[in-house]
Amino acid sequence: MNMLSNWLKNLCCNTKLEEFIKAKSFELESEIARLKQVEQELQTVISRKRAIFEAEPDATIISNDKGIIVMANKQVECLLGFSPNELIGCSIDMLIPLRFRDNHRKYRERYYAMPNLRLMGNGLPNIVALRKDKTEIDVEISLSRIETQQGDLFASSLRDITVRKKNEEELKTSEERFRLMANSSPIMIWITDREGNPTFSNKAWTEFVGLKSLTAITHDDWLALVHPDDQKLAVKNYYVNTHNLESISTEYRLRHTSGEWRWVFDQGVPMFNDLGIFVGYIGSLVDITDRKNAEAELRIAAIAFESHEAMVVTDANTIILRVNEAFTKLTGYSAEECIGQKMYFLHSGYHNEAFYQTMWNNINADGTWQGEIWDRRKNGEVYPKWLTITAVKNDAGEVTHYVGTQSDITDRKAEDKRMYDLAYYDALTKLPNRRLLEDRMEHSIAIAQRHQKNLAVLMLDLDKFKAVNDNLGHLAGDKLLQLVALRISKCLRESDTVARLGGDEFVVLLEHITDTKDAALVAENIVNELSKSFHLAQNHDVQIGTSIGISLYPQDGDTSTTLIANADVALYQAKHSGRGRFVYFSQE
Ligand code: GH3
Ligand code: MG
Repeated sequence: MNMLSNWLKNLCCNTKLEEFIKAKSFELESEIARLKQVEQELQTVISRKRAIFEAEPDATIISNDKGIIVMANKQVECLLGFSPNELIGCSIDMLIPLRFRDNHRKYRERYYAMPNLRLMGNGLPNIVALRKDKTEIDVEISLSRIETQQGDLFASSLRDITVRKKNEEELKTSEERFRLMANSSPIMIWITDREGNPTFSNKAWTEFVGLKSLTAITHDDWLALVHPDDQKLAVKNYYVNTHNLESISTEYRLRHTSGEWRWVFDQGVPMFNDLGIFVGYIGSLVDITDRKNAEAELRIAAIAFESHEAMVVTDANTIILRVNEAFTKLTGYSAEECIGQKMYFLHSGYHNEAFYQTMWNNINADGTWQGEIWDRRKNGEVYPKWLTITAVKNDAGEVTHYVGTQSDITDRKAEDKRMYDLAYYDALTKLPNRRLLEDRMEHSIAIAQRHQKNLAVLMLDLDKFKAVNDNLGHLAGDKLLQLVALRISKCLRESDTVARLGGDEFVVLLEHITDTKDAALVAENIVNELSKSFHLAQNHDVQIGTSIGISLYPQDGDTSTTLIANADVALYQAKHSGRGRFVYFSQE
């Protein structure tokens, strides 16, 4: 009331009123000017904020506590297809797929009930927004609260993460694919960190060493699986290469889960990240035990191939591929002269087609053949050799090569002959001895038996032979025995046999005699021949003679022993009845 009466008083006082009005008008104008400036500033702030809001790279929506959209920037249209005007005043539900709407509403209500508990923040993942065309889009949402006098508002910034999600999924798929591939690979794969500790190992690796997972073991644990003799080299290679960030490539023995040491070929390469920083190694291990064994076998085979025995390797068509030094020595042909030739270039012509046919039948049936064969050397000499041919077959059982090992048996054959002669021949006269005579007699008896033929056995003992030894010496006696042997032989046919039993005793086996008189004729002839003088040396002609006892097959016996014994009996009689004659065995 006071103010009003004062104002009236002042109003009544014109001059004062005028002054008062003037003053007030000025105040009012100043206030208006100030307010205009404030408004301008406010407009500037609003436009600035608006510009910032519009310049936001993310689609941003501001909604109120009822979920009504009050603002949206133009990015929303790019992301969701709705223009800001289409959204303002609408419920935010229209941007949420039906299946998430209930949950979203609950979150919103819970927030408004207890705003401090509501999770605010950036990058809420796995959010799906609904677009105007009803398609869904993966977005990442950042939420922030705007406190106003009219109540809290919500700013939601939506970012398209379709590409990122796709990349993440692709990465996941590719990682899974790598794992699948790595685990299905028979090659052992490993990855280590920069310190050399395994961070990944595939199934083949873990199964090989019998560990569940290698990710838990250290570099030293790996080393404990390496053979003690190889550790030094494996470690040296490892450190030298990893120190220089170079590729690793080394071979060593690794303990297999079975406890067996297996050779492995380990190779690795350094890995670098996008910034070029070394992050570790990736590598693989291959079990090369079989290869190592094969190499060892090859080395052995190569050494064995150059052994003393002559060896030749041909293809399946017997074309020579390889020969060794010993082969060249044996045949006289150099490797260059042999390679490309067919094996038959060595043939001597001593064997007929049937021989080779039997040989190849054997090889084809049993995969091998061995036996004596006569081949021709480069110098034309034909020689016997012991040949073993072995067929080499592939997994399908097909012959791929033939390997021939051969040794010259000329010496062996000569030695065999020497041994044979020693066993069956008399060294002095070269006539068959008692053993061979008995063999031949048994053989002849068997044939005579089959064909009902007769045989005659003439047992000879030189007369007065001892005197030659006594008068002229033992050597002269030997010489005489040799001359006697020759002279008896001359009295016989091809089919007859003369043997020396020892001393001055000889036996003649006559085959194919038709009459007992045939034996008498031969005996008589021998007696005559041996009674003629022998010329031993200058001025040394000697005269001896012989007595002969004759036994006949079958009448006097059917074994060599009986026939010889009975001829001996007859000989005894011949000696006693005056020597220089023959006597038939008689039972009396
Ligand atoms: P006989 O008329 O009764 O047959 O008398 P012999 O002088 O021929 O003597 P006998 O048949 O009883 O003995 C054979 C002799 O032959 C005995 C031995 O000294 C000699 N003699 C045996 N083997 C050899 C030999 O290999 N070389 C030589 N030089 N003499 C031998
Ligand atoms: Mg005698």
